[in-house]
Amino acid sequence: MLVGHLINGEIINDSKRSQDVFNPSTGSVSKQVCMASSETVSSAIAAAEKAFPAWRNTPAIKRARVMFKFKDLLEKNVDKICALIGEEHGKISHDAAGELQRGIENVEYACCAPELLKGEYSKNVAPGIDSWSEMQPLGVVAGITPFNFPAMVPLWMYPMAIVCGNCFVLKPSERDPSSTLYIAELLKEAGLPDGVMNVINGDKEAVDTLLHDDRVKAISFVGSTPIAEYIYSTANSNGKRCQALGGAKNHAIVMPDADIDNAVAQLLGAAFGSSGERCMALSVAVTVGDDVADVLVEKLSESMKSLSFGPFNNSSNDFGPVITKNHQLSVINHINSAENQGASIVVDGRDVQVKGYENGFYVGGTLIDKVTPDMNSYDAEIFGPVLQIVRVKTMQEAMDLIDSHEYGNGTCIFTRDGEAARYFSDHIKVGMVGINIPLPVPVAYHSFGGWKRSLFGDLHAYGPDSVRFYTKRKTITQRWPSAGIREGAQFSMPTMS
Ligand code: NAD
Repeated sequence: MLVGHLINGEIINDSKRSQDVFNPSTGSVSKQVCMASSETVSSAIAAAEKAFPAWRNTPAIKRARVMFKFKDLLEKNVDKICALIGEEHGKISHDAAGELQRGIENVEYACCAPELLKGEYSKNVAPGIDSWSEMQPLGVVAGITPFNFPAMVPLWMYPMAIVCGNCFVLKPSERDPSSTLYIAELLKEAGLPDGVMNVINGDKEAVDTLLHDDRVKAISFVGSTPIAEYIYSTANSNGKRCQALGGAKNHAIVMPDADIDNAVAQLLGAAFGSSGERCMALSVAVTVGDDVADVLVEKLSESMKSLSFGPFNNSSNDFGPVITKNHQLSVINHINSAENQGASIVVDGRDVQVKGYENGFYVGGTLIDKVTPDMNSYDAEIFGPVLQIVRVKTMQEAMDLIDSHEYGNGTCIFTRDGEAARYFSDHIKVGMVGINIPLPVPVAYHSFGGWKRSLFGDLHAYGPDSVRFYTKRKTITQRWPSAGIREGAQFSMPTMS
C-alpha cells in the first residue's frame, strides 16, 4: 500500500520516489510512503495560496464551525486513528488515545477563534479619533512534524492556523504518516474548502522546498534540535516567521523529603511511557543525598519488574517498541556507553525478546545508576526507555546541573517543601516546570515550549501564543472629518498634550 499526499482535497500519489514504512511491533514493512518532489510541494503551496482569499474572508464563526465538526469526527474515529498510530509508531492503544485526546483539546481551543480574534479597540484616543488593532492571517503557512506524536503535534499547529484564516501545508514524519494523513482527510468531511489544508509526505527535499518558497510566510517545526536549528536559521534568512521546537533531556529532582512511593510511580510512567519517545519524558532523576538515592534505586528496580512491553495492539502492555531498528541500536549503544564510562546498569533492557514478535524493535525498561555529567549518555537525548540516576549533595547542585544542560524543555521536583518548590520554579532555566507533576505538558489553553536549545523562536506552540504566531497585527487609527472636528495642517508630531 502506498501513502500519498493530500493536495487541494484530493489524495495524490507521486510515486517516483518512495520509502518503507515499518510496523515496529513486528519489525516488518507494512507500507510505502511517497516522497514528494519539489514540484509536488509547489503544487500544494499553489493550492493553499489559491484557497487563501476566500478562506481569509470567511467569517471566523464559520471557520470555527468547521473545527466543531472536525472535533466530532475525531471523536467518532478514535479507534481507527489509534490503530493507525499503533501500527506505524508502536504506541500502545491507551497511550495513542491519550495523545489523540490532547490533540482534540487543541481543536476545542481553536473553536474559540471568534473570541480569540476580537482584537483591541480604543475609542477617542484623541478627539474624534478611534484606534483598533486586528489580527490578520499570514497567508500560506507550513508545519513540519516529528514521528513521536503523529496525531497530537500536527494538531498543535493547523487547527489554530486555519481558524485564524491561513491555509496550511503540513509535512509529517515519513516514518509514521498514515494517521496524520487520515486525520487531515476528515477536515474535508467537516466542511473545510479544498486547498485550505494540504499534506505532503517526504523528506529533506520537501522541507527545503517549503523553506525556500516565498509564498510560505511562516513555518512551525517540531523535531530534533539540529534540524530545528537548521529550519529556524534558514526560514529566518528567507524572511519567514518561524518557531522551531527541538529536543530535550528532562530532569526530575528527588528531594530527601519527597513522597518516595509517589515519586517512583510518577517516574516509571514518565520515563518508560511511550518507550521514552516523548520530548517531555523524564530521563534523568537527580537525587539529593545518597540516602534518597539508595531508596529510590531499590524501589524503582523492584517496580520495574512488573513493567510490561510488547506489541501496540495488546493494551495490557505499558509500552511498545521504539520506532526503527536503527533507533533500537542507538538506544542500546547509549546504554553500552554509560556502562563503558563507569555507570552501573541496575536494570538492563538491552537483550530482550517478545515472544511471537522476535523481530520487533524492542528495548526493555533500563535503569542506570551513578551517571555523571561527563558521560556521553548524560548529554545525549537517548529517546528510549532509559532512566538515569545522577547523585548530588544539594538542591542547588541539582539545579546547577539542570541549568547547565543544553536543553531546557521540561523539568520536575518531587518534594513536600513548598518553599523549595517555589524557589525551584522561580529560578530554574527550563520552559515547563512540574511540582510533583512528572510530565508538565501545558493544557491546550496555555502554550507549550522549552528554553535554551529546546526552542528556537519567541512564541511557544499552541494556546494563546499560537494566535500571535499565526496572525500579524494591524493597527488602524480613524477619524471622520464629517463628524464636525476638523484640524488644519500640523507639522509637529501629533500628541495628546
Ligand atoms: P527529526 O528532527 O528527525 O524529524 C522531524 C521532521 O524533520 C520530520 O518531518 C523529518 O522528515 C524532518 N527532517 C529530518 N531530517 C531533516 C533534514 N536533514 N532536513 C530537513 N528536514 C528534516 O525528529 P524525529 O526523530 O522525527 O522526532 C524526535 C525528536 O523530536 C526528538 O528530538 C524529540 O525531542 C523532538 N520533539 C520535540 C518536541 C517539542 O515539543 N520540543 C515534541 C516532540 C518531539
